[in-house]
Amino acid sequence: MHRTAALQSNSPGNSLEAYAAGKLEQLQARHLRRELVATTRESGLWLERGGRRLLSFSCNDYLGLSHHAAVKDAAIEATRRYGTGAGASRLITGDHPLLGELEQRLARLKGTEAACVFGSGYLANTGIIPTFAGPDDIVIVDELAHACIWAGARLSGARVVAFRHNDTGHLGELLHAHRSGAQRALVATDGVFSMDGDIAPLGELAEICVRHDAWLLSDDAHGVGVLGEGRGSAALFPGAHIPLQMGTLSKAIGGYGGYLCAAQPVIDFVKTRTRTIVYSTGLPPASAAAAIAALDLIESDPDLRAAPLRKAMLFTRLVDAPAAQSPIVPVILGTAERALAASAALAEEGFAVVAIRPPTVPQGTARLRIAFSAAHDDSDVTRLAAAVRKIAAA
Ligand SMILES: *Cc1c(COP(=O)(O)O)cnc(C)c1O
Repeated sequence: MHRTAALQSNSPGNSLEAYAAGKLEQLQARHLRRELVATTRESGLWLERGGRRLLSFSCNDYLGLSHHAAVKDAAIEATRRYGTGAGASRLITGDHPLLGELEQRLARLKGTEAACVFGSGYLANTGIIPTFAGPDDIVIVDELAHACIWAGARLSGARVVAFRHNDTGHLGELLHAHRSGAQRALVATDGVFSMDGDIAPLGELAEICVRHDAWLLSDDAHGVGVLGEGRGSAALFPGAHIPLQMGTLSKAIGGYGGYLCAAQPVIDFVKTRTRTIVYSTGLPPASAAAAIAALDLIESDPDLRAAPLRKAMLFTRLVDAPAAQSPIVPVILGTAERALAASAALAEEGFAVVAIRPPTVPQGTARLRIAFSAAHDDSDVTRLAAAVRKIAAA
């Protein structure tokens, strides 16, 4: 049967395709359809897509380590020695020696007793939260926290409540109202917010959590390697009690994988019971080796790890925006249509700055999300700032 004819017919055999096609049409009409664009990243900075060579301000590879020779060599060497895959879940035969070595490095960096490496940051949060919260419990989440925190919270079966973004007073009220009705309470937030670049008030959050016997989870996906001398956003709040510190190896660390840093019994329990550890294959040797090599570079080079924030602050100064707190700077444009047009205009000037639309960000806050890298020249930042000013004025 001809394809379009199949889509038009209402016969039961075609309801799936018709459903998908109808949904795509609705999204297209609202400028919310998304499409993959094949992209060749030639370096930490330059990419090629749609026949064009663009300077990227949309990669989370803040230190350019995904293309660093020492990091690539470590991955290649690990592949030669240990193969391309872990071969099984870590609890079966997949616990290759690089995972333990990486966990020691991460625990040392974060100042915790122990660490556990996951397949990705998404797998970390969707595994950790249901390990520590269940149907008798409450999970309270910053409203702008990353999608995988929300996914983990919902998977847990606990009562899930949002607190207003970075509003410690609101969190206190919610704990006051709901804590006694729950057996355990877990509070989760991004350390650096992925789409806004601002930092959670981890010191105050930690105090409130301790007062109410709630467990604080901070997601440091965008802090590790670039804030707090490379130790991440929690290091900006010395003494804050953050018992669950998760993050990813896929951003400043330049590769792939996720982690949790915590006390020894917490990590031992995760390795025993967390479903995304027990029922998912261990991180490949190449990814673990790349992360170890990246941590060597991060720990030994203060200028490198300070550079992305320095570039972001140069940009916010040039466009008269509030000073950047992290390498992420949003330029909020409102409608999806405006954000797409701004992104297209920047591509005309040779920049890759991808438009971020709902549901990744709340309705009415579609934006350009600009990510700065240690590899950007100050002159690149200056040119981008001029182009963004022109667009904002238009
Ligand atoms: C990217 C991101 C994740 C997911 O990490 P992956 O390793 O890419 O799965 C989790 N949390 C935050 C805040 C992120 O920005």
